[in-house]
Amino acid sequence: MSTISHWVAGQPYAGESDRTAPVFNPATGQQQTEVLLGSQADVEAGIQAAWDAFPAWSQTSVSARAKILFAFRELVNANIDRLAEAITDEHGKVLSDAKGEVLRGLEVVEFACGIPSLLKGDYSDQVSTGVDSYSFREPLGVVAGITPFNFPAMVPMWMFPVAIACGNTFVLKPSERDPSASLIIAELWKQAGLPDGVFNVVHGDKVAVDTILDSPRVSAVSFVGSTPIAKYIHERGTANGKRVQALGGAKNHAIILPDAEVDFAADHLAAAAFGSAGERCMAISAAVAVGSAGDRIVEAVNERARAVKVGSGRDAGSEMGPVVTKQAQERILGLIDTGETQGGQVTVDGRGYSVSGFEDGFWVGPTVIDQVTTEMDVYQQEIFGPVLSVVRSDSVDEAIALINSNPYGNGTAIFTNSGEAARRFQRGVHVGMIGINVPVPVPMAFYSFGGWKDSLFGDKHIHGPEGVGFYTRAKVVTARWPHVSHESEASFHFPTAR
Ligand code: NAD
Repeated sequence: MSTISHWVAGQPYAGESDRTAPVFNPATGQQQTEVLLGSQADVEAGIQAAWDAFPAWSQTSVSARAKILFAFRELVNANIDRLAEAITDEHGKVLSDAKGEVLRGLEVVEFACGIPSLLKGDYSDQVSTGVDSYSFREPLGVVAGITPFNFPAMVPMWMFPVAIACGNTFVLKPSERDPSASLIIAELWKQAGLPDGVFNVVHGDKVAVDTILDSPRVSAVSFVGSTPIAKYIHERGTANGKRVQALGGAKNHAIILPDAEVDFAADHLAAAAFGSAGERCMAISAAVAVGSAGDRIVEAVNERARAVKVGSGRDAGSEMGPVVTKQAQERILGLIDTGETQGGQVTVDGRGYSVSGFEDGFWVGPTVIDQVTTEMDVYQQEIFGPVLSVVRSDSVDEAIALINSNPYGNGTAIFTNSGEAARRFQRGVHVGMIGINVPVPVPMAFYSFGGWKDSLFGDKHIHGPEGVGFYTRAKVVTARWPHVSHESEASFHFPTAR
């Protein structure tokens, strides 16, 4: 069985630790490889490589950096199939979905190709007589990314293209469940001409993460994952003086108003709830059906849930693959049981699901639970599986209040034909990303991505303009070039404009 190694200073790195974690193919349920779990020394080797590469990379001209990004963009584009296959075999999502995540990551690379424009500073002429003022931004140093299993290519690509374009060097700690995509990406960076040490990959668990959080050589940490770990990363990272953006979990609601077009809403709800087996941070897991929309939308969604083609991600006919691990499967099935015993009506039941030829896979079929209330576990927990809970509500204002009383605030959507209701919704919800008749409103790369409340700890959203702000810090220069014959006009009072 092959062992997936780290990538340090432009080449595979075995390190000293022989601890490993199994990597499964979720469709077959079989272990297909293993990944190294780095020791403190192994992770420090990655940080050291990034530290050594920083002086030269940060002094490389912004145009030269952009050229490497353009080359990397072409290489990722040419290797989409290879990346997608690696993702499907370790995550389980269907190939078309895996390609989609690479393409959304590629959009961030394309955004970062514009780094010469993005880093343009400000200039003010003659702020005082003979004095000019200007500002520009500089990279931070070594920055790290710690990423979740559910988007092994896209989420790291929310981070490193912008960080590297800004002149930082990068250490990626990917999820140990699907680590292969990160190494393909490392090879592509090398082929694109990125100097060794600018992009490093260290694999591991809490030991690796804590080494990053405690290292005085790491200036900033971007994290994406579950809320308890996001909170921990933010607290420990900031206590150690680092800049931290830590994106957490989610419970995304979609409101369906009685004036919504039912078939349109049901098609989109089913895709948003069951796509990628519900393992998207922007998946819709709670439908809030308002008034007379309730029975109509449940009936239409049930029909679509029963029709979802579940199978191996490698099968072009599949619309939904397995969930990532046996533990995830057991947790999700247990939550459906609890939903039923706590009074929910399981109208489409994904328990006991099996796919012919893949009997050992980690399957959970599409599931709809109606009449869910806010006290139930299925409502309170982020299920992260193909389970849609339907909560009934009497009005749009009651539905908005429900969303606002939830601790998460990542994404939300409304289905309606009323511009007035949509506007009330967009202004009223305490959520970072909002869709109007768009169920998975993931912002384009030239906007920034981020939630509110327990879905993000830290001040800056990820990629887009806020990403550039996160990975750089400002300098403001106040300059005077006195004519040699002028009097100095120095004074002991506080300088004011003349
Ligand atoms: P996770 O929190 O278990 O793991 C994320 C990362 O943290 C991994 O690299 C993992 O190795 C590391 N980690 C895990 N336990 C740790 C510990 N005790 N100490 C230190 N590090 C630890 O998340 P996951 O299961 O891989 O991913 C799913 C979660 O990610 C869901 O909650 C989902 O909502 C969230 N997510 C959020 C967004 C977003 O944009 N807000 C995007 C994708 C995923």
